[in-house]
Order: sequence, then C-alpha cells, then structure tokens
Amino acid sequence: MTSVHVIGSGISGLTCAHALQTAGCAVTLTTASNGPDEQCCSWWAGGMLAPFCEQETAEPLIGKLGFESMAFWQQLSSISELHYHANGTLVVAPARDQVMLRSFERLTKQSRRIDRTQLIELEPDLNHFTSGLFYKDEAHIEPRLAVKVLWRLLADLGVSLNTQQCLSNDEIKEMAGQYDWQIDCRGLAASDSLDDLRGVKGEMLHIHSTEVELNRPIRLLHPRYPLYIVPRPDHQFMVGATMIEANHGRKPTVRSILELLSAAYAVHPAFGEAEIVEIGVDVRPAFNDNLPRIRRYGNRVYVNGLYRHGYLGAPALARRVADLLINNTPCTEIVDANHPEWTNHRNTTNVA
Ligand SMILES: Cc1cc2nc3c(=O)[nH]c(=O)nc-3n(C[C@H](O)[C@H](O)[C@H](O)COP(=O)(O)OP(=O)(O)OC[C@H]3O[C@@H](n4cnc5c(N)ncnc54)[C@H](O)[C@@H]3O)c2cc1C
Repeated sequence: MTSVHVIGSGISGLTCAHALQTAGCAVTLTTASNGPDEQCCSWWAGGMLAPFCEQETAEPLIGKLGFESMAFWQQLSSISELHYHANGTLVVAPARDQVMLRSFERLTKQSRRIDRTQLIELEPDLNHFTSGLFYKDEAHIEPRLAVKVLWRLLADLGVSLNTQQCLSNDEIKEMAGQYDWQIDCRGLAASDSLDDLRGVKGEMLHIHSTEVELNRPIRLLHPRYPLYIVPRPDHQFMVGATMIEANHGRKPTVRSILELLSAAYAVHPAFGEAEIVEIGVDVRPAFNDNLPRIRRYGNRVYVNGLYRHGYLGAPALARRVADLLINNTPCTEIVDANHPEWTNHRNTTNVA
C-alpha cells in the first residue's frame, strides 16, 4: 500500500488526505495546529464558492477548478451536516457607482442583470439598491464546519492524525524518507522552501444582527472598499475581506476594520447597530499570478498558492494530487514555467 505523509490541516491538507486515503493510500497527517482551528488561514475564510464572480480578476483555470470543487462540497453535504447553500451570489453597487456594476458584468460570465423589483424578491432587506447582478449558479458553505467535517471524516476513514507537531524543515526532509510520498500543505509556512510564495493579508469580521436578513452572499462594489457579506446561522454575518500584500501580520489595522464596517453599513444601515462578534485576520498563501501550484521535488509534493480560492480550489487540486501519485498522471494545467522539474515529474531534484 502506498504510504503518504500529509503536512498541514488547512483546507489543502485535509482535502489531499481525503483524496489519497479514499484512493487506497495509507495516509498520516501531521499538523502544527490542534486539527482545523484558528491557526489555519482556512479558519477565516468566507466560504464563497463563486467561480463566476472571481473571473473579475482570476484566470479561467480558477473557474474550472471551482466547478469540480463545488461538486465535491455538494457531495460532502449529502453525507454530513455540512450545508451546501446553492442560493447564488448577488452583486450590488451604490447608485453613483453603477459604472462599476457594468464593468463587473463585462468581466464575468453567467450573470443576470436584475432591476429593483427582482432584487427585492431575492433580498427583501436590500430595498435601497436600484439594480444588481445575480449569479444563480454560485454557492457558499460554512468553512469552519467544512474543515471540522473533513477532520472527522479522515478519522473515520482511518487516517492517522498527529496534532500540535510544528515540524522544522529538517524534520520534514528527514520524514520524507519514511514514506513513499510527502505532501506539504503548510500554506504560507512553506515559504521557507518555496521562495516565490508570498502573503496576501485578509481581515474579516463576524457581526450579529437580528434586524437584517440575507439569503446569499452579497458583494458590494465600491471604489474604496469592495467587500462581501456572507450570511451565517444564528443571525451572524461574515464581513470580508481586505487584500493587502504582506508576508506577515496577525493583527488587523484600524483602517481595515473601519473600511469593512463602513462597507457593511453601506449594504444595510441596520448593520450600524450590529454587535461585533469577532475580528479575524490571516495571510493567504499566493504565487505571483495568484494561481495555485502542485509542485514536485522527488517524493515531496507541495500543494500551495490557494490565494483567495482555498475552498474553491483545494478539492480539485487534491484530486490531481491523487492522480499524480496513483496513476502517475501529471496535471499539466498547473505547470509552473519557472520550475521545469515539474514538467518531468520523474525528476528527483530536492528542494533547498
Ligand atoms: C479573510 C479571508 C477570507 C477568505 N475567503 C475565502 C473564500 O470565501 N473562499 C475561498 O475559497 N477561499 C477564501 N480564502 C482563502 C483561503 O482561506 C486560503 O486559500 C486557504 O485557507 C489556504 O489553505 P491552506 O491549507 O493552503 O493553508 P492553511 O489553512 O493556512 O493551512 C496550513 C496548515 O499547515 C499547518 N502548518 C504550518 N506550518 C507547519 C509546520 N511547520 N508543521 C506542521 N504543520 C504546519 C498549519 O497548522 C495549518 O494546519 C480566504 C482567506 C482569508 C484570509
């Protein structure tokens, strides 16, 4: 039986461990955190599955990975308590910024322009917007529930789970010799080995309000602070997220929180009375083109660079990792031109 060591319990590590264990490998997962928790970037995500809206700035590959991942989440929700909310996404802009709505429409696909009446049918509380764009085929999940469900599933499937072990680079290299394959899913921490990995800081809030009801993620287009609001159970809302180039930064700034709160207030004035439940921050791992990579060095495989597409991309990447390890099928879509060793995936160059 093929033995695999997965490092990391963020969305990348969990989905890789799941794909490999269900494909018949004997998987051991080691993580610095106590399972999926607030130490992972994955904890702070909005959980939006928005392959069409993301096309505003992302390459078409993100859409392709996104559709595959959405099928995975749908399937997982059919066998667990995870809820796959297939209510679409609504994009709105203040009256003076309608030009931004037109530009967003041009850059994305599968939207339907809706007038005020149609908008109110979808979201009765947003009656101060005059028009919007509706992406009916998008969805969202609750990310913290998703990682917990996956963690439990891994335990049920017999994955050996080792928590609170923050491995040094030397330990990681040494352990690679004990397994057929090692999959490094350390997120931004892997920048000690992947020198082109950078960080994009994201700040977010959870607020509580019984005065506003939303049925789906709302994206507000705004010249200074574009944001989204994702409804959560129990009258909570996730408000996110900033995008700031920074390799570190575990503390949110006053400016960012002011902007997030201003934008929430612009979506609905009743959010002015909402309670702030939580302020969160983490740094997204990203490569220069904001596309994810599966990069192989000998028997070590890095799965990284999920940027703002962790939930949208990870399950599809994990399937490709399983294809690579089990069927020796290289995933040519995620070739990194700067790393020719990937194009010959039998090469056994070791990472520095
Ligand atoms: C505010 C915010 C909002 C976001 N919203 C969305 C969204 O709506 N939709 C979406 O798809 N994506 C979203 N993202 C992006 C998504 O969260 C990331 O792409 C994703 O979390 C990256 O996952 P990862 O598994 O690569 O890294 P992480 O989640 O950071 O996991 C890394 C794991 O490695 C472990 N680790 C690190 N170092 C070591 C070590 N030395 N030894 C052992 N273990 C180690 C850590 O403990 C952790 O378990 C958002 C991100 C942020 C910050």
